[in-house]
Amino acid sequence: MKIEKIETLVCNARMRNWIFVKITTDQPGLVGWGEATLEWHTRGVVGSIEDLSQLLIGEDPSRIEHLWQMMYRQHFWHGNGIVRATAIAGIDLALWDIKGKVAGMPCHKLWGGPVRDHVRTYAHLGGGKLEDFYETGRDDSKRFGELAQAAVENGYTAFKSMAVPETMPIEGNRPVQWAVNNVAAMRDAVGDDIDIMVDCHARPSPAMGLKFGQALEQFNLYFFEEPCWPESLEGLAHINASLTTPVATGERMTHLAQFKALFDVRGCEICQLDITHCGGLTEARRIAALAEAHRIALAPHNPQGPVSTAASLEFGFSQPSYIICETVTEDVPWRQDVVQEGYTVQKEGRIVLPNEKPGLGIEINEDEVRKHPFQQELLQRSFYSDGSVGDW
Ligand SMILES: [Mg+2]
Repeated sequence: MKIEKIETLVCNARMRNWIFVKITTDQPGLVGWGEATLEWHTRGVVGSIEDLSQLLIGEDPSRIEHLWQMMYRQHFWHGNGIVRATAIAGIDLALWDIKGKVAGMPCHKLWGGPVRDHVRTYAHLGGGKLEDFYETGRDDSKRFGELAQAAVENGYTAFKSMAVPETMPIEGNRPVQWAVNNVAAMRDAVGDDIDIMVDCHARPSPAMGLKFGQALEQFNLYFFEEPCWPESLEGLAHINASLTTPVATGERMTHLAQFKALFDVRGCEICQLDITHCGGLTEARRIAALAEAHRIALAPHNPQGPVSTAASLEFGFSQPSYIICETVTEDVPWRQDVVQEGYTVQKEGRIVLPNEKPGLGIEINEDEVRKHPFQQELLQRSFYSDGSVGDW
């Protein structure tokens, strides 16, 4: 068996361009699907996949680890920058899809069989609709409460919010009070049994991240995400050690050694590896094994497209320390037109039952994808009140 062709299909989904990767083999009808979505870097990833494909055409797609080593280590530069790590991931997912199709079983069965009966998922406020999740006013706590209630009415038992505003390295009480008001409104709306998560988007400095974290301890958050830049491992470790609320991070990390450094300082309790950014399922399985040694939980970052979700769920059915999967459903109204999924979602509790179809269990409708060609992603630029650059 040989790889004949590696193509990218770009599908504009408003905030993101989903980058689907299609690998065609020399076996009639045997193709694999992956995803390498990296918002605001679409052209770079597409080009990187074209560069990598030069290494792989004519190779045996069943040698996934060998091909992964080639993609990561050959041509001198290691593949751990975000663009190439994402490109590698997209190809790696498609190779696993082929592997499962050849074996006639879903990927999680290739990795030892299901370790759980279902995977729990969580929503973004507003289902991930750009205006609701990212643009609800920092001082509009009433809206936070309404959106929280809607998530629960939609069957979710857990949801994530952006309740912490953009913040200069040091600020006074006002942003902290906004965050407290927003989380209080959500807790009031949904009660104590629903799990609420707050994503800081790495906006705060370590000092402000700790301040926000301490102010929100009273609400018993399920986790507190990216409370400072991921580069500040000592900041993450300090915040994680200072709070009873578990800290979650890892979505911007791209390779095993980076996760080792994070785990070594106990920078988190929940590892949010992104299967489409950390070198794919091949590297994700190594990162998961390392997390297991530290008894750190897994909750993959997954706000991208449907192949990323299918891969994140297959991974979840194979990993004992996996607790929950991020999902986005309302980013574009035609999401279900471009993909047919192998798994089923139970509305009550928004739990996912295992995929029984081979590989990642998905079919992409290429005609539907072509209806949404590449467009420049909506620019999201952030400046503080004095005009200096902030973190979005
Ligand atoms: Mg995040």
